[in-house]
Amino acid sequence: MRPDKPRDPVAGPDAGPEPPFPLKLNGKVVKGFGRGSKELGIPTANIPIEGLSVGGHEDVESGVYYGWAGLDVDERGKRIEQGAGGLGVGTGVEQEIERGKGENSEGEGGGGSGGGTVWPMVMSIGWNPFYKNTVRSVEVHILHHFPHDFYSAHMNLLILGFIRPEYDYVSKESLIEDIRIDIDVAGRSLQREGYARWMGDGYLRAFGGGDVGM
Ligand code: ADP
Ligand code: MG
Repeated sequence: MRPDKPRDPVAGPDAGPEPPFPLKLNGKVVKGFGRGSKELGIPTANIPIEGLSVGGHEDVESGVYYGWAGLDVDERGKRIEQGAGGLGVGTGVEQEIERGKGENSEGEGGGGSGGGTVWPMVMSIGWNPFYKNTVRSVEVHILHHFPHDFYSAHMNLLILGFIRPEYDYVSKESLIEDIRIDIDVAGRSLQREGYARWMGDGYLRAFGGGDVGM
């Protein structure tokens, strides 16, 4: 059951990720259960669960995590042609975050140049008791408003921390309330220097060449 107590404003040690983080995961955005944006108002990009075993993390605990997501689409959700421009990393995390602030209302989003864009994300791994799922799923909500869907885009995930385990929700309202808090916790957690700097990690913008796995 979901504990009836106030939630922490941030998750994970302030200094930065500690083992087993950062965890890497990547895959193609596929159709999910068609319930994310329609029922909850919070779209989640689904990637196949096989992505998890590629990284050797079949044993990863179910729950809610946060980190950075690299996409081969631009801030509108449109495909970026690979090879158009440089990697766009090493320009300084602060600069990237500032740019993100100007471009989107959700705050700490990071735009990009050339080989993809990098965004703050909150993700859930696991069984979803509320919907009585029979398979595990990896669902990623990106803290940015995209005017277009980006199905079949490639998504590289750098998971930096754990927010909470999955709970069995008594109502859809309490589930949505917790997801809204998860989004805030993820955004705040990633603003800390020890987490913000991972935004420049080359893995996030390494597309093409199939599954890079770990
Ligand atoms: P599905 O059940 O197919 O996953 P959703 O209702 O969860 O459908 O919507 C997810 C899709 O919405 C993603 O695959 C992506 O193309 C799009 N999308 C748009 N904005 C976002 C966002 N901020 N975060 C995640 N996905 C988004
Ligand atoms: Mg979804």
